Amino acid sequence: MNQVFNFSAGPAVLPKEVLQQAASEMLDWQGSGMSVMEMSHRGPEFISIYRQAEADLRELLAVPANYRILFMQGGGLGQNAIIPMNLLGRVREPAVIDFVHTGSWSGKSVKEAARYAEVNVAASSQAGGFVSVPAPESWQLSDGAAYLHVCTNETIDGVEYNFVPQPPAGVPLVADMSSHILSRRIDVSQYGVIFAGAQKNIGPAGLTLVIVREDLLDYALPICPSAFNWKNVAEHESMFNTPPTYAIYIAGLVFAHLKAQGGVAAMEARNIEKARLLYEALDCDDFYANHVDESCRSRMNIPFYLRDESLNEAFLAGAKARGLLQLKGHKSVGGMRASIYNAMPIEGVQALVDYLNEFAGR
Ligand SMILES: *Cc1c(COP(=O)(O)O)cnc(C)c1O
Repeated sequence: MNQVFNFSAGPAVLPKEVLQQAASEMLDWQGSGMSVMEMSHRGPEFISIYRQAEADLRELLAVPANYRILFMQGGGLGQNAIIPMNLLGRVREPAVIDFVHTGSWSGKSVKEAARYAEVNVAASSQAGGFVSVPAPESWQLSDGAAYLHVCTNETIDGVEYNFVPQPPAGVPLVADMSSHILSRRIDVSQYGVIFAGAQKNIGPAGLTLVIVREDLLDYALPICPSAFNWKNVAEHESMFNTPPTYAIYIAGLVFAHLKAQGGVAAMEARNIEKARLLYEALDCDDFYANHVDESCRSRMNIPFYLRDESLNEAFLAGAKARGLLQLKGHKSVGGMRASIYNAMPIEGVQALVDYLNEFAGR
């Protein structure tokens, strides 16, 4: 098979070393005679895998001791329902949840939360076509919101926060970091809850990571299903019911790999360089365009358009012939999108840049 570079937005590329290790351990994990898939989640082998993954993630993100790390199921959209069910007990009825609407994913969160509480869209960049993050001075936050929900990297629109939102004192900040977690340093202590579907920067689809401050574990609504009640999940070390064991194992390999590569700071430096290379090629003349304000262009997901959209099919075919895969944009916005997560090597970005230049006849 020829070398390919996979620019999928998710499920997405994983480090080759991780896949190779998983392949070599597939039938017999470290002399146990079992595949990880076949192990009891309560046995000593899997418990050791789980604890190592948890410890490595805690180290990578410098997660403070008063935060719990949960490995759950249901994806990012599942958490959109689980979050209100876990936090609305903080405030009296009628509860209000504040949102900042910066693109498709925060929009989906608003819609789901509206089933459980009143939602207040404190700011929206919809009128401008989701090309920016509204300035925090303009946010119309409500008094006594149950929490403030933001999506810090809009995967479809390619918009990434370059600041940490500051809700009023006592209002927890909830952040959907699905598509950029582990790509840059973060100060976990500024957040009440961080969540992420795994299939971008962590591992296989199905696993959802939740990092929650301990004092927020006590506010679940009575209707919250036990398997999705954060406190219950935390008390059972993510094993109230069977967790997605194989996905946790792969995530653990990814965490170990990131540590060996120099951790999140090293990833961030590489990601800055990768994004710089790609935006530079897109901005070079007007053959291509990315519409996002420069101050909040995503380092992970880079949507772009050909000036002459009748060339789209030819562009994609040429890319595929060169092993540059899954560059077609999301159906809701069209055009192209290059997702360049942690596991995309700089060589992949360079190959795409070379192709962009060649196709534009530069
Ligand atoms: C991928 C993604 C999700 C997760 O979606 P699921 O399909 O439910 O796992 C949520 N939020 C963002 C920002 C995403 O990129």
